[in-house]
Amino acid sequence: MNKERYINKLNKIKESGNYRVLRDVQHNGFLIHYNGREMLNLSSNDYLGLASNPVLYEDFRKETDVKLLSYSAVSSRLLSGNHEYYNLLENDLSDLYGKEAALVLNSGYHANIGILPALAGKRDLIVADKLVHASIIDGLRLSEAEMLRYHHLDYEHLREILFNHREEYENVFIVTESIFSMDGDVADLQELCDLKREYDTFLYVDEAHAVGVRGTNGLGCCEEQGCMDDIDFIVGTFGKAFASYGAFVVCDEMFRDFLVNTQRSLIFTTALPPVNVAWTRFILNRMPDFYSYRMKLTGLAERLRVTLANRGFETRGDSHIVPFLCGSNENSVYMSELFQDNGFFVLPVRYPTVPKNEARIRFSLNAAIPEEDYDCLMEFIEISL
Ligand SMILES: *Cc1c(COP(=O)(O)O)cnc(C)c1O
Repeated sequence: MNKERYINKLNKIKESGNYRVLRDVQHNGFLIHYNGREMLNLSSNDYLGLASNPVLYEDFRKETDVKLLSYSAVSSRLLSGNHEYYNLLENDLSDLYGKEAALVLNSGYHANIGILPALAGKRDLIVADKLVHASIIDGLRLSEAEMLRYHHLDYEHLREILFNHREEYENVFIVTESIFSMDGDVADLQELCDLKREYDTFLYVDEAHAVGVRGTNGLGCCEEQGCMDDIDFIVGTFGKAFASYGAFVVCDEMFRDFLVNTQRSLIFTTALPPVNVAWTRFILNRMPDFYSYRMKLTGLAERLRVTLANRGFETRGDSHIVPFLCGSNENSVYMSELFQDNGFFVLPVRYPTVPKNEARIRFSLNAAIPEEDYDCLMEFIEISL
């Protein structure tokens, strides 16, 4: 046995300034307690603020017979774990998205490591945006298909790849996120739908950061950009704006059937607890009501970008995820500590997670945080930074 290897690797991680620890944090709504300080939590994915909304919890308890809701399914969905709440949730999802079928999965990670490996085989090609999420990368690694990456949001590059390679493969899958979490920028789904039609490919869109937040009813960028019908596989997650846990894919009935029969991250894992699936459905049915929260997020994001730009700082994107580029890793750490000292819990994202000298602080906005608190944030940036 060689333990030295692991110790050396850990030391290397420490030297590079990328050592990770699990923080001791406590939560009080949108406030977070950490290091003896109470701060606004601007680092969670609770974009609509639903996770700290006591009225919702109360309503859920009132209208659900909680006695019937167990905390574990105690089995895979393929054995005895497929409780009735799955059917209810999947019917609602397929209705809302206007698709033949929906399949609920344990998490976005499970979705992304399972669906593409099930669908894309040896004779196929997956073409993915350069900046897709780690879970998609892991899915690509598990798939037997060939893989190519196009420059981030560069659809001319994607077109070139399709033009040069489409004929060599049986099926081609274009894979993207709709909102990318590092730059907070948004994919042009219409353009991707055009390419998909032109080159006869499948289109797979991960809407993890967009469900709940974009579109009139909160269905995501596919709703906002009017192309729900054209996307073959729309994936969404429930662990972010939904304030729940789990994920889904909406697609054709045949593909749902195929995934039930072949997707290993569905077959070989315990089903979600009934109480969790019922809560997700409860939130899904209220999503249209949160329109004003979505509007608030759009306004806040715009305001924060303008405030940063007016001070000469670089920012990017077009969503409720707002990066503040700080240059070096060291500077991003310094800046995040400055924000934390002043009551704003933000964290640095460093190289190699992002390109060298593009280390940044990432603001994840939360609609439940009062306007006055955001005023303080803007003032801090305008006056003290
Ligand atoms: C968060 C995220 C996931 C993972 O979803 P979980 O439900 O947390 O496992 C997948 N894809 C993207 C783009 C994400 O941002």
